[in-house]
Amino acid sequence: MTILPRLPHLVLLIPCYNEEPILHNTAIILMQLLQNLVEKQKIAENSFLLFINDGSSDRSWQVIQQLHTENSFIKGLNLAANAGQQNALMAGLMKICDRADIFISIDADLQDDIAAIEEMIDKFREGFDIVYGVRRSREVDSFFKRQTASAFYKLMAALGAKTIYNHADFRLMSQRAVKQLGLYGERNLFLRGIVPLLGYPSATVYYDRNGRSGGNSKYSFHRMLNFAIDGITSFSIRPLRVIASLGILFLLCSLIAIGYTLHSWFHGETVAGWASLMISIWFLGSLILIAIGITGEYIGKIYLEVKHRPRYHIEEFLD
Ligand code: UDP
Ligand code: MG
Repeated sequence: MTILPRLPHLVLLIPCYNEEPILHNTAIILMQLLQNLVEKQKIAENSFLLFINDGSSDRSWQVIQQLHTENSFIKGLNLAANAGQQNALMAGLMKICDRADIFISIDADLQDDIAAIEEMIDKFREGFDIVYGVRRSREVDSFFKRQTASAFYKLMAALGAKTIYNHADFRLMSQRAVKQLGLYGERNLFLRGIVPLLGYPSATVYYDRNGRSGGNSKYSFHRMLNFAIDGITSFSIRPLRVIASLGILFLLCSLIAIGYTLHSWFHGETVAGWASLMISIWFLGSLILIAIGITGEYIGKIYLEVKHRPRYHIEEFLD
């Protein structure tokens, strides 16, 4: 184990979207954690919290401002509009990437076990640049969420995208990893797909996930589905290849069908079946539609990327 010459400077990044009811409590718990870690000589004294307000429509930002005036180790970044959790995290990381050695992102609802943070820092000090927080089980999730989540990770793996099973956005990154992450200019951000691409030494810590400390989940089924589709189409072009393979397969099938048709014609059995025609039209029609749909998904993505819109707008930084 290599011991650093000085203690690492830590920032905890907490994206917040309409988290007013729990923010105060979250800040107290996380400040206490920082103090403990400072006392244990795990991190440098001037480590701090960064709350990123992702365009909340409640009073989250006012609460963050209040927390900042009471405690200078609590900093805040206010995005002008809701940019989504991934972009909010990116905004925070890019804003302060020069100011610390390690960056840990954690949800405001503290569903992720904060005890894992100390383990993450230990791993960093052993020389890992990236430490993934991975859920040991999904007992607190509904049956539906468990099944859909597991199907998603399996599909991602089958499509060749590197994702860490049961890892969300609870992770530690070193400064150099964050700086490399900044080089990824894509708009459809899916951090848990990008971070493994960085290739730096990485480790995993396991933890149990709790229920929300208050408030409601910001991911409805619709939003989760969109997030999963984004994750897949941002990281894999295999669905496009499947269309091409299907095309070849159907070409072969149609050759057989043509042979059969000609054979029937020569034998004078040419009262062509209306039913078979209808079936082919409908079946092929639907396949074509699916193919166009998938292609459209990628074209849509190209459209969004080439615009090179800024990913977020910062309204205020409380330093
Ligand atoms: N969040 C965000 N912007 C959004 C949606 C969510 O910053 O548009 C934050 C939210 O405040 C929380 C974290 O992302 O800190 C995870 O959200 P949530 O707990 O609702 O997700 P779940 O745990 O239900 O998957
Ligand atoms: Mg949550």
